[in-house]
Amino acid sequence: ATEAEEKDLVIIGGGVAGYVAAIKAGQEGMKVTCIEKRGTLGGTCLNVGCIPSKALLNNSHLYHQILHDTKGRGIEVGDVKLNLEQMMKAKDTAVSGLTKGIEFLFKKNGVEYIKGTAAFTGEHEVKVNLSEGGEQTVRGKNILIATGSEATPFPGLEVDEKRIITSTGAIALDKVPETMVVIGGGIIGLEMGSVWSRLGTKVTVVEFLGQIGGPGMDAEISKAAQKTLKKQGIEFKLNTKVLGGDTSGEKIKLDVEAAKGGKKETLDAEVVLVAIGRRPYTAGLGLENIGLETDDKGRLVIDSEYRTKIPHIRVIGDCTFGPMLAHKAEEEGVAAVEYIKKGYGHVNYGAIPSVMYTHPEVAWVGQNEQEVKDSGVKYKVGTFPFSANSRAKTNLDSEGLVKMIADAETDRILGVHIIGPNAGELIAEGTLAIEYGASSEDIGRTSHAHPTLSEAFKEAAMATYGKAIHY
Ligand code: FAD
Ligand code: NAD
Repeated sequence: ATEAEEKDLVIIGGGVAGYVAAIKAGQEGMKVTCIEKRGTLGGTCLNVGCIPSKALLNNSHLYHQILHDTKGRGIEVGDVKLNLEQMMKAKDTAVSGLTKGIEFLFKKNGVEYIKGTAAFTGEHEVKVNLSEGGEQTVRGKNILIATGSEATPFPGLEVDEKRIITSTGAIALDKVPETMVVIGGGIIGLEMGSVWSRLGTKVTVVEFLGQIGGPGMDAEISKAAQKTLKKQGIEFKLNTKVLGGDTSGEKIKLDVEAAKGGKKETLDAEVVLVAIGRRPYTAGLGLENIGLETDDKGRLVIDSEYRTKIPHIRVIGDCTFGPMLAHKAEEEGVAAVEYIKKGYGHVNYGAIPSVMYTHPEVAWVGQNEQEVKDSGVKYKVGTFPFSANSRAKTNLDSEGLVKMIADAETDRILGVHIIGPNAGELIAEGTLAIEYGASSEDIGRTSHAHPTLSEAFKEAAMATYGKAIHY
């Protein structure tokens, strides 16, 4: 084993949090090492998360649209066939192109990349079990933990990624199952449920709560999302809990029970997708060797500058507090390096957008109506339906609405909630508005190009303080 010089920064984990921090540190002239055990950079997001799921969402949508939504547009197609193997290859090409791109960025910014598994052996030292064999000790003035998260298992259902799958299996099935039960109607359940439903699977989503979409989604928008997804063929069982399953037969049998009233039934499924959330991943990191502990949810505890109780060891991304989102991890990667290098950094946790990439997409930023209500602030709501937006109508894609919540006294925008075409792109304007403390009148008096979907955003803003023009 060779002993390296002490680096300015050693990063454990090459996911979005870790790789962004590494590039930023390189740009700041720091000597930086990033250790990743997966074999490729980009973490969950690039390898088995955001990127592959969006590749499948995009192409399954195209397939579904060609099957069901061309005639009225004056396009006659025949003999449409699914080539699942090629769809998976297209996904793999997107993934490998992007992960290799990060390796290139590491080289460009002078980041040392070590392939292996890191564990703390001291407060300034980690031992790396190298992927190629052997060990290496790496020392750092500062150490950043960015080890991410993993799927929360469902007790009693053993994941084999073939029949009982997590999202990792759901992006890699080699045939279209006839039936799939999804446990958990959050973002993963609805995105991956949409993919397989479009490709021909009969999908049933079992959700413990009374609404879909996971934490944060506005109740009104969630209802609208459920309605459209139902129209697309996805079945929902809300307020329902899964008691357990039997995998011994050809079909998996899941026992479910109504959360209230206790009515029981058994669901048959070829494949069961477990999508009940993710939990921080810190296994094998040797935290006990340096006395670092996690909270009851497995999160590493930090202060507002990402420091653990050992101040030169910081934590960012999915393995600590906050929403488990790639762009949140990315912001923290930049801010953590700035704290180390300059003594200050900044992430506005009140302006982190969420996007669900179903069709139509659902996107939001800031507080939802219930949260505003609970805060006691007086508020007003403006909505505008895409059915009254010229571009959405032109595109024959006009399901959904924009809902804007503004402070009744100051007119400051508190939350933006969109279900509709390209909601994920449209929400950027809402995020910027919240970041800059814009009022709804600021938006309503800003010229938006015609004909674009963004006019729905402007008109929802107008509706909070006056009236929309086109509705
Ligand atoms: P990770 O990406 O999990 O990276 C951590 C890395 O650390 C891993 O590569 C792991 O191998 C490595 N590691 C762990 N322990 C060690 C060790 N001891 N030594 C060396 N390396 C180690 N978010 C979005 O914002 N948009 C989306 O569209 C989206 N889609 C998603 C779809 C799916 C199916 C899933 C599962 C997640 C999705 N997410 C999405 C969430 C997003 O992937 C995460 O929020 C993001 O990856 C978190 O980044 P991270 O760097 O904190 O952790
Ligand atoms: P989630 O927290 O979004 O949703 C989990 C859902 O499962 C919730 O609705 C919850 O009520 C339900 N649930 C929990 N236990 C249950 C049980 N026993 N039975 C039935 N339902 C149960 O989690 P997820 O969908 O697994 O996603 C994990 C993380 O990955 C999230 O933090 C999410 O932000 C992130 N992610 C983001 C994107 C995106 O940004 N587009 C895509 C995929 C994943």
